[in-house]
Amino acid sequence: MRRHLLGLALLLTLAPAAARAGATITIINANDPGVGFNDPTPAAPLASNPGATLGEQRLNVFKYAAAQWGAVLDSPVEIAVLAAFIPRACTATSGVLGSAGATTIFSDFPGAIFPATWYPKALADKLAGEDLDPTTPDVVAAFNSEVGKPGCLEGASWYYGLDTNQGPAEINLAVVLLHELAHGLGFQSFVSAGTGAAPLGQLDVFSKFYFDHLDGVVRGDYTTDAERAASALHFRDVAWIGPHTRRAARGALDAGSPFLQLEARGAGERRVAIGPALFGPALTRDAVEGRVALGLDAAGTSLGCAPFANAAALRGRVVLVDRGTCTFTTKVRNAQDAGARAVIVADNAPGGPPPGLGGADPLVTIPSARVAKRDGDALKAALLVGRVQAKLGLDPEQRIGADEHRQIYLNATDPVQAGSSISHWDPLAFPNQLMEPAINPDLTLEVTPPEDLTSELLRDIGWFTDRNLDGVPDFPGEVIRNPRPAR
Ligand SMILES: [Zn+2]
Repeated sequence: MRRHLLGLALLLTLAPAAARAGATITIINANDPGVGFNDPTPAAPLASNPGATLGEQRLNVFKYAAAQWGAVLDSPVEIAVLAAFIPRACTATSGVLGSAGATTIFSDFPGAIFPATWYPKALADKLAGEDLDPTTPDVVAAFNSEVGKPGCLEGASWYYGLDTNQGPAEINLAVVLLHELAHGLGFQSFVSAGTGAAPLGQLDVFSKFYFDHLDGVVRGDYTTDAERAASALHFRDVAWIGPHTRRAARGALDAGSPFLQLEARGAGERRVAIGPALFGPALTRDAVEGRVALGLDAAGTSLGCAPFANAAALRGRVVLVDRGTCTFTTKVRNAQDAGARAVIVADNAPGGPPPGLGGADPLVTIPSARVAKRDGDALKAALLVGRVQAKLGLDPEQRIGADEHRQIYLNATDPVQAGSSISHWDPLAFPNQLMEPAINPDLTLEVTPPEDLTSELLRDIGWFTDRNLDGVPDFPGEVIRNPRPAR
C-alpha cells in the first residue's frame, strides 16, 4: 500500500467506525473558542435553522451538509471532516468562499479497484472496509468567516438556512458546503492541471474517466507531465466518461446544444467549441450548411470590417473572418451583403472556450458564431489544402455541457485556472450543476439525478459498490472509450 499525505498534517483520534447503510460523516470543529463555529454573536433564528448564535447556525449547516452526503454515500467507515470558519483571502469585491479536499491519498490497499492509482482517503477507507489511518481526518474544510465584513465581499453575506430561500446578495452556505464536501469525497484530481505532475508520478482514479477528444486518449495514455498539462487546456474536448454520469446526463442536462461541425476532406468531422451570437437568428435544428470561405478585403486582411474584395467567392458560403478592429455585427453584415449563409468569427488572441458574439443589429438575418484562435488557425490551415464543409445549428440530442455522447465536459480552460480547471464540470452545463466552478444562485440542494450529477461521478470512481441500483456494472473492467450511443 502506498500512502501520500497532502499538504496538511493534522493528528487527532476519532471515534470507532460504525458499520451501517449510508455513511456517517462527522464534523470536527477545529475553531478556537469565541470564533468560527464558536462565535457567540447572537443570530436571528431562521425557520430552517434554529441556532441562536452565529457559531451554532454555522455548525448546523455543516451538520446538514454532512447528513445529506451521508445519506447518499455508502461506507462502513466513518468519514471525518475537520472544519473551521477562518479568515480567507478576500478583497471588497472578490474572495475565497471556502475550500475542502482530501487530507491523504492511498493506492494499492486491499479492495482498491484499479492498481497503482491514488484514491482519496474517504473512498480508500470505504473500499478497504477499514480506516487506513485512524489518526488523520478524511477531509479538511475551511470557510471564510469574513464574508460581508469591511474589505471582504462587502454587500454579500452567508445565508445559513437549510433551504434555498436566500436573498439575492446572500451566499447559500449549504450549497457551497455540499460542493466542497464533494471535492473532499473524490470530485477532485490530484494531478496538477497546470503542470501535469502527478503525486509520486502516479495518476488518480479521477483520471481514469478523463478523455481528451482532441488527442483521442484517456489521461493515462499520456506519458509526460507536459502532455497532461497541454491536455488540460483543451476546452470543450475533455470529457468525463464514467458510465453512471453519462447515463444520468440524459435527464440532468437539457437537450439542444449549439454546435459547429467542420469536415475537411480526408480529415473527418470535428465539432469545435463555439460562442453563439447574441444577435441575428437563433441556431435551430435546421442547421445551416455550406462550404467555408475566407473573407478578404482590399487590404488583404480577413477582418471583415470593409466590403469584401472576394465577394463573388463568398456567395452561399460560410464565411470565416477574424476578430478585431470593428464590431462583430459589422463583420456579419458585410458577409451577409456578400451573400454569405453564415459567419464564423475566429478569435485573434489565444484562449478559450470562446465567449459569445456580443452586439445587436436587427438587420442581421444570418447566423454567426465565434471560435477560439486555436480552431480558427486550424480551419485556415485546412482551407489552404482543400475544401472544408461547415454545419452550424442546434443538435436536438446533444446535452448542453456535454459532448455528442452525453459525456459531460470537465472544466478545461486556456489558460489553466488554478483550483478550478479539471476538478469541476464545464460551466456550460445547463441546468446549472453543483460542481461547476462558480456557485450559481439557482442551484438546489440536490446532489443526485435527475437534478444533479455529482453523486454519479462519485459512483463512477468507486462509491456505491454494494448498491448496484440499476444493473450497470459498477466497475467495468475497462473505461469506455468515446462510446457511441446506440440509436
Ligand atoms: Zn469547487
